[in-house]
Amino acid sequence: MKTVYSEKHRLHAPKEELHNGLVGPPFEKPERAEMILKALKEKGCHEILAPEEFSFRHIEALHDPGYLKLLQSAAREWRDLGRDGDALPANWAAGTMRTAVPPVNLDGRLGYYSFSGDSRIGEGTWTAALSSAHCALTGMKLLLSGESGVFSLCRPPGHHAARDLFGGYCFLNNAALAAQYALDAGAAKTAILDLDFHHGNGTQDLFYHRKDVYFFSLHGDPLYTFPYFTGFADQRGSGEGEGFTMNYPLLPGSDAETWFAALDDACRRLREFRPEVLVVSLGVDTYEGDPLSSFKIRAEDFIEAGRRLGALKLPTLIVMEGGYAVDDIGVNVCNVLHGYAEENPA
Ligand SMILES: [Zn+2]
Repeated sequence: MKTVYSEKHRLHAPKEELHNGLVGPPFEKPERAEMILKALKEKGCHEILAPEEFSFRHIEALHDPGYLKLLQSAAREWRDLGRDGDALPANWAAGTMRTAVPPVNLDGRLGYYSFSGDSRIGEGTWTAALSSAHCALTGMKLLLSGESGVFSLCRPPGHHAARDLFGGYCFLNNAALAAQYALDAGAAKTAILDLDFHHGNGTQDLFYHRKDVYFFSLHGDPLYTFPYFTGFADQRGSGEGEGFTMNYPLLPGSDAETWFAALDDACRRLREFRPEVLVVSLGVDTYEGDPLSSFKIRAEDFIEAGRRLGALKLPTLIVMEGGYAVDDIGVNVCNVLHGYAEENPA
């Protein structure tokens, strides 16, 4: 299987992260992507490709201009204020506060364009995020030129990034940009299946009013799980998009049986919808050993998950999202890809 990977992800390397009230070593770090790459190379059956560059219009197709400007300038503005470290939001509009106009002040804008305090913007964050998006776009371009399955080893991840919000380690929504690229290239309808432990709030937000991208997400119940305010079962889309969002919130501690039952339901609906291409937001933080989740998916279950994706027989772009058990992340991702390839031999 072709894998698209950019070394530029290393330019985004936060030294610390706010977690459980403490500032400590980050969970989202370059080693995640490097361990996956190492495991793919050890398997020996993956062709590793660098991403192409794409016109900026493919990024602007889904993201707000003011938001993109902030991602590009925040680290420099932070430094110009005489501050050390990476730019980090600390103030958010809530309830009835006024959000009609973005603030002028940098701290105000960081809060205006984000929804959580876990994501830092450093000197290299924009270059890494843009290259990560190019990995997804390149993967989709390959798919549209006839590949049956492609893996985009994206980092930073993307599924929490909305039109004008970063958070949950995400800045540009790689999977969503790839789906939009397919539509712009002539596909009539696509689907995104999000298997990350956390709800893909950004992807849901981007396509909530649309019927040309059917969004499915299996995730920890938001009553107990980040991002808390989105991913509920009764969120089914609105307007033209009514019925084209499908959330499967699962209780903390859910095991493989529960997870596969939700996956099978999503696959059944996918077969009915018949998208021309499928984008899978693959987070392996559903793994039983993951430090940021509570599901009980075992390494061998990921092979079966890959088989079920492969059995859909759709051109499929698998985009890397979360997964924080760094020692096991390579095996878990390889298992999904090999399960998929079993069903779709090259
Ligand atoms: Zn996640």
